[in-house]
Amino acid sequence: MQASSQDTPALEFALLHRSLGEITASTEHCGRCGRALLIGERVYEYEDGGLACSLCRDRERRTPALTRTVHTAASGHSIRVLDRRPRRHAP
Ligand SMILES: [Zn+2]
Repeated sequence: MQASSQDTPALEFALLHRSLGEITASTEHCGRCGRALLIGERVYEYEDGGLACSLCRDRERRTPALTRTVHTAASGHSIRVLDRRPRRHAP
């Protein structure tokens, strides 16, 4: 079945809308300003699980439990080391 040229924009819009919804759902957000945290950005995590971006951290009176870098959802799953041979060091 071939889609007509009139259906194509609606299909493109539906696919784009669905993919943006999936990306938004998997993205972390700052607990204070609600901004989507960017990949590579430092994020401050608190005891209650709340997150604060670098811009909002100064307004937070609590001490963060940990600080980490925002990674993609594929982080840790996208690269697989297959070569397990011992490394040779240069003299
Ligand atoms: Zn923020």
